[in-house]
Amino acid sequence: MPELPEVETVKRTLNALVQGKTLSDVTVRLPRIIRRPDDIEAFRLMLKGHTIQAVERRGKFLRFLLDGLVLVSHLRMEGRYGMYRPEDPLNKHSHVIFHFTDGTELRYTDVRQFGTMDLFAEGEDLELPPLNKLGLEPLDPAFTPERFRTLLAGKPTKIKPLLLNQAYVVGIGNIYVDESLHRAGIHPETSAGALTAEQAERLHRAIVDTLSEAVEAGGSSVKSYVNGQGESGTFQQKLLIYGRKDGVCYTCGSPVEKSRVGGRGTHFCPNCQRLTP
Ligand SMILES: [Zn+2]
Repeated sequence: MPELPEVETVKRTLNALVQGKTLSDVTVRLPRIIRRPDDIEAFRLMLKGHTIQAVERRGKFLRFLLDGLVLVSHLRMEGRYGMYRPEDPLNKHSHVIFHFTDGTELRYTDVRQFGTMDLFAEGEDLELPPLNKLGLEPLDPAFTPERFRTLLAGKPTKIKPLLLNQAYVVGIGNIYVDESLHRAGIHPETSAGALTAEQAERLHRAIVDTLSEAVEAGGSSVKSYVNGQGESGTFQQKLLIYGRKDGVCYTCGSPVEKSRVGGRGTHFCPNCQRLTP
């Protein structure tokens, strides 16, 4: 599943491709991708004639700003966008097609069909689900060490599931949570409220650095989420712990351990990331 750096990369790629394009029509081939409005014909008619001013990101969601409307799109497991010409053969998994007045098409393809789209009037989208309950943006200046410490204070929850909970901090998924905890030298099962001020500060720094470096590298997807455009991310080559089950810790040489925390496969170094009571 794409996390913040991958969605940020998709956002940047899409801005280069569709900014300023005007919709002449929309074809919805799999209605359940569209959650709002429930009427697909209304969805189509609302969008027709609108111009994409910009594509923004909130957490793992894309926000297409369409003069007066906002289309909120979540890629979930396998969703991806691609630019095509009408004569290009249609993939059977291309579920939503945005036709532009210049003759090009933006196709949304999703093999697993878990992706979602919600259409709002401008200003409404941040006040309603799915965006209204989202937590802090980790690459926003408002995400300070102090705010992060306050957020952790008194929480008995294990730190890994807390970081995955989008109501606290957005955009972090299984890859970047394992990387950040490893960099900070914190065991994934440590109770959030039990972290010292110094540990919380180290973790804050690790989250910001890991995500920033991953954005810089275009994310860590083996595949690109926007087909044929730009390059797929290279951060997977820089991962220190995630996915390295049979490897050793680059810092101390201990075998990397894999366990389950909060139902998620978790990689950590049992020596560098000790569980302190
Ligand atoms: Zn180690």
